[in-house]
Amino acid sequence: MRQIAIIGSGPAGYYTAEAAQKLFGADVAIDIIDRLPVPYGLIRFGVAPDHQSIKAVSRRYEKVALSDNVRFVGNVSVGEHVSIEELLGLYDAVVLATGAPHDRTLDIDGADLPGVFGSAAFVGWYNGHPDFAGIDPVLDGTDVVVVGNGNVALDVARILAKTLDELGESDIVRHAYDALETAATERVTLLGRRGPHQIAMTPKELGELGRLERACPRVDPADLPEEEADALLEPGMRKSVTLLREFAAIPESHRADKCIEIDFDFFASPVRIVGDGKVEGVVVERTELDADMRSRGTGETYTIPASMVVTCIGYQTPPIDGVPYEHGRGRFANEDGRIMPHLYCVGWAKRGPTGTIGTNRPDGYAVVDLIAEDIGEGQGRKGRVGLDALLEARGVDVVSFRDWQKIEQAEIGNAREGSPREKFVVIEDMIAARGA
Ligand SMILES: Cc1cc2nc3c(=O)[nH]c(=O)nc-3n(C[C@H](O)[C@H](O)[C@H](O)COP(=O)(O)OP(=O)(O)OC[C@H]3O[C@@H](n4cnc5c(N)ncnc54)[C@H](O)[C@@H]3O)c2cc1C
Repeated sequence: MRQIAIIGSGPAGYYTAEAAQKLFGADVAIDIIDRLPVPYGLIRFGVAPDHQSIKAVSRRYEKVALSDNVRFVGNVSVGEHVSIEELLGLYDAVVLATGAPHDRTLDIDGADLPGVFGSAAFVGWYNGHPDFAGIDPVLDGTDVVVVGNGNVALDVARILAKTLDELGESDIVRHAYDALETAATERVTLLGRRGPHQIAMTPKELGELGRLERACPRVDPADLPEEEADALLEPGMRKSVTLLREFAAIPESHRADKCIEIDFDFFASPVRIVGDGKVEGVVVERTELDADMRSRGTGETYTIPASMVVTCIGYQTPPIDGVPYEHGRGRFANEDGRIMPHLYCVGWAKRGPTGTIGTNRPDGYAVVDLIAEDIGEGQGRKGRVGLDALLEARGVDVVSFRDWQKIEQAEIGNAREGSPREKFVVIEDMIAARGA
């Protein structure tokens, strides 16, 4: 019997388990280990709470989770409760699917002022990640600056701009829902170092900004390239730029009844965050593009008022003892998913933080092909029996998939009207709910 441990229960972890089941049939035992008592990684804690249809992909993972040869081993942190070396001694293959949960830091003066948050923290706050539920973002000011021109920046702007009514069917957690009720936000400025042709925003997410009840996007027509140049863009990107052109053409009369402005500030690079004991503004340098479409500063600066700054500039994988790491790219050092004999990686831990949920699927299938080549029929390792003994000896309180299903039922039962669930945001509360 082949014994495989997958570390991380996000999309990459579950696609890997699905692929292993398909290839090895009943002749494999798969343990999916997660540091949290709840599965699915960024499906639960990253994907926006008002995008429930995207979160529905977890039903596919549930099918995998419920099959006889797959186990969820929740509340077990690799590197803390059990080491990589120990896992390599127990399993034929260990696959790191740990994602990239740490924010890349904005390396400018003032980035450590109170009121500056990374997107992992801010998104984690409104999605109820236990690590970030207590961050207490600054919502009593009028001006929020969001650094970045990708879909995560759009998610953050949209959640700040929506009315409670618009968030009604979302699973935004109670503390965020309540805090947004009294938020004083009037302007969300999205800073992008480059221009409209260099955004990493998809049409669906961008289009939503044009249909909000109380908020309206603003694009300066002067920032848009000549329209003929759009013909060279790939179709999705062309749609996104067309939306920016539509935003630039919104008449002032349409803005009159909107109380929140979402301002696209292109060719704008933050150089300093200023404030007396807390963030009060962002000093921005105007940029231009060089021949290789890279941004370069022009020397012209201006200051944008800011009561809160959210940086959406990417993520990195935290290193784990004993695993080679590529510091520049913030991911495990690997060759097509192979790290060292018997140790592999997939998803964001392998590629860095790029791609959608679906991008992780081919990763999972490809790594299982490598495992099949490398381990043959398996080497009679102890696998899960050995892991259970080790965790029991260490007094680790393991949460199973059945336990998670009880937690999920409790969350559904606690939901406010119209919402699919009210998530527990404290680990002890999750664990307590399994006993109910
Ligand atoms: C804010 C945000 C919004 C997004 N929205 C969308 C969207 O709308 N549509 C879309 O297609 N994609 C979206 N994505 C991208 C998508 O979420 C990722 O492609 C995907 O989640 C990456 O999968 P993963 O399995 O590599 O990592 P993750 O989903 O991060 O899963 C990693 C798992 O590993 C666990 N883990 C980490 N360290 C350890 C450890 N030491 N021991 C045990 N377990 C550990 C974590 O708890 C987690 O469960 C979004 C991403 C973000 C950040």
